[in-house]
Amino acid sequence: MSKQEQLDALAQDIRDKNITPDLASQALNLVMGDGNLDADIVFIGEAPGKNEDEQALPFVGAAGKFLNTMLEAASLERKDVYITNIVKYRPPNNRDPLPEEKAAFLPYLIEQLQIINPKVIITLGRHSMEYFLPGAKIGEVHGQPQQTQLGGREVTVIPLYHPAAALYNGSLRQTLIDDFLTVPELIK
Ligand code: URA
Repeated sequence: MSKQEQLDALAQDIRDKNITPDLASQALNLVMGDGNLDADIVFIGEAPGKNEDEQALPFVGAAGKFLNTMLEAASLERKDVYITNIVKYRPPNNRDPLPEEKAAFLPYLIEQLQIINPKVIITLGRHSMEYFLPGAKIGEVHGQPQQTQLGGREVTVIPLYHPAAALYNGSLRQTLIDDFLTVPELIK
């Protein structure tokens, strides 16, 4: 099976098993992810917002615009990376995903990462950081590559602030860009 077929099967499994039925019943779309299935870099956000739910694509609203700016700063485009979220349905009114919603999607996220098999996983914000670096504080570890295990394989995780945080805090913009600019060197 191709990677796309494997991801399609994973999406079908999420639908068939009715994962997070409460979210599924209110969302317009399942937002699996977008980008290059052979990417070295995978970004993991929190959950789709309104625009993402409408377009069935991750990070296409204001936070996504800033993510594009970060990519541009590193001479990358969206087609060079893969972008997804932990929770794949929009939480109503963009509330934070609940612990049980994140837990329900975790096995799917791990399988998705195993299919894509990136060199570097970039967590955006604390919700996705928590999984890979339990107990870490974003203010202390942001931008610092950490080694961890994913399904028995070593991967590098780089925790970054969430791009949405930079929309409300100007000084974080440069921190995020500076942190991200270390990544292309790392995957060489
Ligand atoms: N914020 C996220 O965490 N994910 C998206 O897809 C959009 C905004």
